Amino acid sequence: RGDSQDYDREVKSVCPYCGVGCQISFKVKDNKIKYVEGINGPANEGRLCVKGRFGFDYIAHGHRLTKPLIRREDAPEKGLNVDPANLGTHFREATWDEALDFAAKGMRGRGKEIAGFGSAKCSNEEAYLFQKMIRQGFGHNNVDHCTRLCHASSVAALLENVGSGGVTASFNEIKNADAAIMIGCNPLENHPVAATYFKQFAKRGGKLIVMDPRGQGMKRYASHMLQFKPGADVSMLNGIMNVIVEEGLYDQQYIEAYTENWPAMKEHLKQFTPEKMAEICGIEAEVLRDVARTFASAKAGMIFWGMGVSQHIHGTDNSRCLISLALMTGHVGRPGTGLHPLRGQNNVQGASDAGLIPMFLPDYQPVSDDGVRSAFTDVWKSPDFSNQKGLTVVEIMDAIHAGDIKGMYILGENPAMSDPDVEHARHALAKLDHLVVQDIFLTETANYADVILPSSAWAEKTGTVTNTNRQVQMGRPVVSPPGDAREDWWIEVELAKRLGLDWGYTHPREVFAEMKLNMASLDNITWDRLEQSAVTYPSLSEDDPGQDIVFGDGFPRPEGRAKFTPASVIAPDERPDTEYPFVLITGRQLEHWHTGSMTRRASVLDAVEPEANCSMHPRTLRRMGIEAGDTIRLTTRRGSVRVMVRADRAVAEDNVFLPFAYVEAAANILTNPALDPFGKIPEFKYSAVRIEKDSDA
Ligand code: SF4
Repeated sequence: RGDSQDYDREVKSVCPYCGVGCQISFKVKDNKIKYVEGINGPANEGRLCVKGRFGFDYIAHGHRLTKPLIRREDAPEKGLNVDPANLGTHFREATWDEALDFAAKGMRGRGKEIAGFGSAKCSNEEAYLFQKMIRQGFGHNNVDHCTRLCHASSVAALLENVGSGGVTASFNEIKNADAAIMIGCNPLENHPVAATYFKQFAKRGGKLIVMDPRGQGMKRYASHMLQFKPGADVSMLNGIMNVIVEEGLYDQQYIEAYTENWPAMKEHLKQFTPEKMAEICGIEAEVLRDVARTFASAKAGMIFWGMGVSQHIHGTDNSRCLISLALMTGHVGRPGTGLHPLRGQNNVQGASDAGLIPMFLPDYQPVSDDGVRSAFTDVWKSPDFSNQKGLTVVEIMDAIHAGDIKGMYILGENPAMSDPDVEHARHALAKLDHLVVQDIFLTETANYADVILPSSAWAEKTGTVTNTNRQVQMGRPVVSPPGDAREDWWIEVELAKRLGLDWGYTHPREVFAEMKLNMASLDNITWDRLEQSAVTYPSLSEDDPGQDIVFGDGFPRPEGRAKFTPASVIAPDERPDTEYPFVLITGRQLEHWHTGSMTRRASVLDAVEPEANCSMHPRTLRRMGIEAGDTIRLTTRRGSVRVMVRADRAVAEDNVFLPFAYVEAAANILTNPALDPFGKIPEFKYSAVRIEKDSDA
């Protein structure tokens, strides 16, 4: 960074990376970002992490797409074979008119043969337009995005049991808590600014209960560290709840006033004694008892969770347990209490709210409800569309293989890296007879495109974004897009026009105004207010900055009551055996974000973590005659990758942790596509794997 002389312009916006939603001041000179500073946003109060502070120069990377591209007729076969620095043998440059006409021609009139993936990296308005295009333009609901791969199971459980998919309290509320459970999340790496609040909580004496099959940095701040066996979440949580019931530690008054199905829950929990559960989850019965007493006796307790909870075939059951734990202890709806699934991408909350999901229209209103659909078609001035839930991310790939889907529009998502069993997804993309990709880089997915529409990075566009706390914030253009690249909303409008949809929007604020017509969550939130400051939904009046804590006086469910849904123990889909004796866990690293398309092109971040790596316990390595720094081969039933191994005592013995940001060792070549039946989320957090020292190394 420099001093005040180093820039001639300052633009206030939001970080493009994780769901914390830190507000940033960009310092700009000659249409280039010189450096950034954290400013006083509600979620970050001036703080930034390494990604927010140093991860912005991907915007000016030489790989940026600057012209619309159409696949050449004489291009080599589709595959991961395009060099971003030399596109010419595969694609030819086109004008916007030619590229948009070509994109629309391949989609027009094809109804259910077309599916769409929108993006949690785009604005709320862009997400809304995307789902509108699929529903209005093609008459069905085959539209989804990466929420399916991160918190779909959490949302399924929250909607089922508390009647709303968002968090019940901001993470900053931990300042008023005296106990907190953090399970299946690693905030120091994935939500680093949120982690600063969690550390402060622990330093002032709050009881921090960390539960994670992998050791992690927050262990240093924890009063209890439960390094349980992968996949044993339900056993452990039921064991804890059994103690709360058996020792009478539950909040009878709260349960009677605000919940239903308690007798069945109590009965169900009897079988999960801590002794029995200790054998399954690997945590001693006495520790389960101590955690139960600590959390239940707290005056105010919060529960945070991440994808370690959600990315299992029993992900919805995991979240059901966490919801039940909060309800039975009365830790919802008061200061310092709440349920908070930490959201991954900067706008995964907003994109889901905006209806970028196959079963819900905006504000989680079911597509099956005739009244709901007609409220939208009235505003859209268009005929009715299907009342059937659409296909989800993994189901869409299966439908391509089955020949049911033949064309796709993919905006800002990278399924050729992010889907489970990714070779299956890559083959599906190659099979499509028309693939439109809209992105800022030639992503792995764009390798398979028939037409590529160059779009804008977050710091090049106008639009609102909603963070993990339900805070809606304004994103502003800091610099101009390169070459002929355009804002995503503009591309959507132009493409829609060629599909026969005359939307006529001239600015995202008009889209936001339309969203408000059928989204009660945006009541009292206006574009003009957002120009001034963030507003949390729900906002009760035009002066109300919004409700950080919700459900203090009941839930948006029948009779205002939340529900206990008992969960039984379900083993992971595949278990280690003699052929695949280890457990593979995938996840993220501090410096890299998701499939790496941005952070691996951010010079500082990539300099810190330049090489694909995995981590194993030193004892396991010693036993296998492998040294830290060796290249090893990881093989599952789906495929094989070569990767450098690090020694890390945080990883349990006989486990291996592999980040998923590296295309050269794509973790998802290995992962299991088995789905949670409710959230339809794949089991990224558990695969049986074989490990060998690589003979080619
Ligand atoms: Fe950006 Fe998240 Fe880091 Fe904040 S914590 S600076 S939102 S990556």
